[in-house]
Amino acid sequence: MDQVAILYHPDLINYDFGLGHPFRGDRFPRFMDLLRSKGILNRGDVDLLEPEAAGDEDLQLIHSPAYIRMVEVMAERRIPLSADTPLNPGIVRAAKLIVGSALRAGELVAEGRYRVAEVVGGGLHHAGRDYGGGFCVFNDVAICAQALMERRGLSRILIFDTDAHAGNGTMDIFYNDPHILFISIHQDPKTIYPGTGFIHQIGEGEGEGYTVNVPLPPGADDHCLEVVLQRIFLPLAGEFKPEIILRNGGSDPHFQDGLASLGFSMAGLRRIGEAVAEAASEAGCGVVDFCCSGYNPQTVAMGWLALLSGVAGFDVELEEPSEPPRAGRGIYERTLRVVEELERRLEAYWSL
Ligand SMILES: [Zn+2]
Repeated sequence: MDQVAILYHPDLINYDFGLGHPFRGDRFPRFMDLLRSKGILNRGDVDLLEPEAAGDEDLQLIHSPAYIRMVEVMAERRIPLSADTPLNPGIVRAAKLIVGSALRAGELVAEGRYRVAEVVGGGLHHAGRDYGGGFCVFNDVAICAQALMERRGLSRILIFDTDAHAGNGTMDIFYNDPHILFISIHQDPKTIYPGTGFIHQIGEGEGEGYTVNVPLPPGADDHCLEVVLQRIFLPLAGEFKPEIILRNGGSDPHFQDGLASLGFSMAGLRRIGEAVAEAASEAGCGVVDFCCSGYNPQTVAMGWLALLSGVAGFDVELEEPSEPPRAGRGIYERTLRVVEELERRLEAYWSL
């Protein structure tokens, strides 16, 4: 199972919130152009697949029928889902394509037909069961995970959310669920949307200890990231022994992104992917990778390629737009304090 699947549909271009909005649909074909120009799509171990839209029974794995109906009606009438998330019927159709893509990717990897499947446009992690917002309509990552449990019988799924914003929707959905280990690295939610995803939020009930939030100070760079990977992500993944890893998050932790203030470089984004590949190799499982965020048109596609190249092990040259800044000592020490506090909070559940 050395093959890598890239799932892409040209109608993703309709997941577009309009002129002046940072989330534009043209970012998807531009990523495909970059893959083409870097020779990724001509590789013998890469298959380009076209997904189909998900149906209501798929969406209802996570979302309530009332929410799905509300989204449809609001889209018809062009009523925004939230201030930052306008709706129209094309967006909802594209959202269903993204969910269909996530489901197909999950099946292909669970069946062992691919070791990595890339869901282009996926990772809409701010949508919860009954709410959307933050550019997210349906939570494709959560639907993929739930389908793997209900339809494939998986019982240990690791979701690693590396978007600059905390994955509040995914966190809420699986907050009580010990079958999902949800680890989210993000910019401190005191300083950025969605304003939740704090260190003390570790799950509840049977799910206590299975939600791990790693809030990083603004400016955290690749060195800060490496500490989190070495001391939190890799040990937890090693102990949890996932049957599959779902990694989501695009280019918005990159230092040149306009919507967030983290300081990762292209090499840092690739390192995230490499750590995921390392964890997957140790667990003997495959990876579904989701990319949709990133709001600097100059860096978004390269950042997605950095992440994918790490997960898939592609030897490809990454272009950095300028010299990445180094975090000052204070930022590094704040990161260390976050990691140490997490180790203390989690020691009741994990042997960190
Ligand atoms: Zn984000």
